[in-house]
Amino acid sequence: MEHLYLSMEIGGTNLRYGVLDGTFRVLDFKKEPSRRLSDAVDKGEYIEGLVRPYIERYGKENFLCMALSLASLMNRERTVNYNSPNIKGFNNISLVDILTERTGLPVYMERDVNTALLYEIWKGHIDTRGIIIGIFIGTGLGNSMCIDGKIYIGNTGSACELGHIPVLGFTDSCGCGKNGCIELKASGRTLHLLAEEKYHCPVSEIFERYGEEKDVKDVVHACAIAAATEITILDPGCVVLGGGVVDMKGFPMEYFEQTVKENLRIPYPRDSVRFIRALGDPESGITGAAINAAARMGQRV
Ligand SMILES: [Zn+2]
Repeated sequence: MEHLYLSMEIGGTNLRYGVLDGTFRVLDFKKEPSRRLSDAVDKGEYIEGLVRPYIERYGKENFLCMALSLASLMNRERTVNYNSPNIKGFNNISLVDILTERTGLPVYMERDVNTALLYEIWKGHIDTRGIIIGIFIGTGLGNSMCIDGKIYIGNTGSACELGHIPVLGFTDSCGCGKNGCIELKASGRTLHLLAEEKYHCPVSEIFERYGEEKDVKDVVHACAIAAATEITILDPGCVVLGGGVVDMKGFPMEYFEQTVKENLRIPYPRDSVRFIRALGDPESGITGAAINAAARMGQRV
């Protein structure tokens, strides 16, 4: 037995999948648009079709499990996928049961923000004592928390919804079903709207070309306020910062850090807070999923 991991990341835009060995080295890696999964009538059949060649090539007996990373809310037991953006017919689906039956392997599923943080901790050899938080500014405002090496998922499995903390006096309605969520001001979605409707430029260029405009800065400011709120409560050892918006050219990292600090108590955590830029490698999702699966199976990570 070779202790391999069959791993898949199901995102709103791309589906990435492959095979990793027992040390989380990627042996095989593929990417395709999530649209195809969205169009597939039988999701289980479609996913099995993608990974079946790997199971046959490497031999089923050499796989420890199948690991999944999903941009989705899920139940505490991590068996039911509640809803995934951009993928039709993928809501309230018992994905773990379906894929266990189809692959014959144990299946371990986790949220993408959590597998992303696990990857960054592993890759960056970050000391896992105490609290590490991950803030991922992408389409939404993603958040993850690792306490003494363990991802914190909360009582019902829905912890760390930082994007949906309420903003006093703000009443716009959010896609989550309630009003006044900070994500409406603090996310890539907001930048996208500005780029499209006001500045008429590709969103990827908005910081380079319009980074000094107040409404563009306001988005970064709102992200910093959300981060400062969490840091104030938790006093974490470090903050891993990543996501598509942070990776954009011209993202004002200095302004972000300064705004976070201005909103933290003196002297601590203002003087002690430490930011680490996420690497955000293409294989981070499938690797983080495998690391999570290994921990769930009691393997040494
Ligand atoms: Zn919301």
